[in-house]
Amino acid sequence: MRTLYTNARFWSADKEIFHDLLVEESKILAVGNDIKNFTADITIDLQDAFVIPAFLDGHAHPIFAGREAAGPRINGLNSLAEIKDEVKAFAQANPTTPWIIGGAYEAAIIEGGDFQALWLDEVVSDRPVVLHAVDHHTIWVNTKALQFAGINAQTKDPEGGTIARNRDGSPKGTLREPSAMALILNHAPANTIQSDIAAIKFACAEYRKVGVSAAIDSWCEKDMARAYIAAAQNGDLTIPFNLSFLATPNTWVADIDAFNDLRQQAANLNDPTLLLANSIKFLLDGALSAGTAHLTAPYLDDPTSSGIAIWENDELLNALVAFDALGYQVHLHAIGDAAVKQALNALESMQQVNPPCDRRPVIVHAQLIRDEDLSRFAQLGVIANIQPLWCYMDPMNKELIAPRIGDERNNRQYRLRSLLNSKAMIAFGSDWPVTSHVPMQALNVPVTRTNPAAGVTQPWNIEEAITQEESLTFYTRNVAYQMFRENERGVFEAGKKADFIVLQSDEIEAIYINGKLN
Ligand SMILES: [Zn+2]
Repeated sequence: MRTLYTNARFWSADKEIFHDLLVEESKILAVGNDIKNFTADITIDLQDAFVIPAFLDGHAHPIFAGREAAGPRINGLNSLAEIKDEVKAFAQANPTTPWIIGGAYEAAIIEGGDFQALWLDEVVSDRPVVLHAVDHHTIWVNTKALQFAGINAQTKDPEGGTIARNRDGSPKGTLREPSAMALILNHAPANTIQSDIAAIKFACAEYRKVGVSAAIDSWCEKDMARAYIAAAQNGDLTIPFNLSFLATPNTWVADIDAFNDLRQQAANLNDPTLLLANSIKFLLDGALSAGTAHLTAPYLDDPTSSGIAIWENDELLNALVAFDALGYQVHLHAIGDAAVKQALNALESMQQVNPPCDRRPVIVHAQLIRDEDLSRFAQLGVIANIQPLWCYMDPMNKELIAPRIGDERNNRQYRLRSLLNSKAMIAFGSDWPVTSHVPMQALNVPVTRTNPAAGVTQPWNIEEAITQEESLTFYTRNVAYQMFRENERGVFEAGKKADFIVLQSDEIEAIYINGKLN
C-alpha cells in the first residue's frame, strides 16, 4: 500500500522544502520530484500544512517519568498549600499504598529551597512520603520517611550528598544528591519489572501523543534495562529507545559483564533496532540549584565550596577507556564549568589511548562553559546535548541559582550560539520528567530566550539565541545522529521511517508514526 501526501510544505533539516511525500507501509518511498517514478494507491491532501519529521528526545528519563506519574501529580503547582492538598487527596484515594512517592515540586517556592518534613506531616503522617524536586537532585520527605531511614541529628552526610539541617543538627526533611536520597529511597518498596513495564508503556504513549518517535533513557539501571527488554518482547515498546547504562565510581567495574549481556539481549530482539543498549552514562557533578554543580570558582553563598566532583580524574579516564574499547558511546552529565572541563579533558585523553573510531561522545547540559573550552567540543567531536526548555530565566535560575553563583555566571548559561560559532554539534533532549517532554513547548525557547508560556517577556542572554530552523534540526536530525539512527530517521529521505508531524498555524494537526495516523 502506497500513500501520497501532497499539497504541503515538507521541511527537513538542510534540505529544500518540497511538496510531496510518498509512503509505503512504514517507510518513505520517495520525496519531491522522485514521486513521479511511482504510482500511489491513496492520495491525502494536507491542505498547505507545514510538515516536519517526528521529534527525537536525546536525553530523558522515561521510566522515572512513568514511576512519578503513578504518584501525586504536583508538577507546576505554585504554592505549598496546593502541593499539600494534592498529596492529601492522593493519600485518601490510595489508602493501601505503603509509600507515597511523587513529583516534581518547584523548589523555588521556598527561599533557599529547604522544605520541612513537618509541612508534609500535616497531611500525611501514617506512612512515608517522598517528593522529588524539579531538579531531580533533591527530595522532600515527611517525618515517617526520616524515621524509616533512621535519619536524625547524629546521621552524617553521605559522600557527595547533603541532609539539610536545623540549627540543632536535626534533619529538616530535604536531602540532596543521589547518595543522600538513597538513604531514604533504599527503604522504599522496590520497583518491580511489572511496575517498570507499566512506566515504559506510559512513557511510550505520552511520547507518541506529542510527536516523539524515539528517545534515549539516559539513566538506565540494570533492572530498568530488563524491563525495557521484556517490554520489547511483549510488544509494549511502541517506539524505539536507546539505553544509557549508569556507571558509578563504585560499581562500574563489577557491572561491565551485566551491561554487555543486556546489550546482547537487546541486539537479539526480533527487531534489533527497537532497543539499542550501547551507551554509558556518567554523572560528573550535581546541579547549580542545589549548589552541587562543579565550578572553577567557588559559590557566592558558600565560598568554601566549588560544588562536587563525583569522579576522580584517573578513575573517570579508566572507565571511559574501558567502555570505549568495548564499543560503547559515552554520555557525560556535566553542568558546572569545572565538570565540563573535566569531561573534555577525559574525552581527549581517552581518544589518545584508544584507536580512532566513530564515537560521538555526548556532554549533556553543559550549562556553563569556559571560553577556552568552547572550541574543544568540535575538535573532539563531542555533541552538546542541551535542554531547550531551560534556555530562559525561569524561577529556578532567578530564585535559586543567581543567589548561589551571581548574575555574571548565571547569565552566561546555555551558550548555544557560541557553540555553533565554534562548529560544535548541538542535539536536544527534554530531561523529562525534570522538565516537560513536549517538544512544541520547548522549540521556541532557545529562539526567543523567553518562555511565553511562563509569562516571562524579558529575553535572557539574547546573543546566545538560535533560529527556528536550527531548533528544529537539533530536535530531529541531530538527535538521530547522536542515537546512531541517522539511517533510520530524523529527516525526510527515501528509506527512512515515515514518522512525521502535520502542523497548521503552528499547532499539531496530525502525527504519523510508522506511516500510520497516531
Ligand atoms: Zn537527566
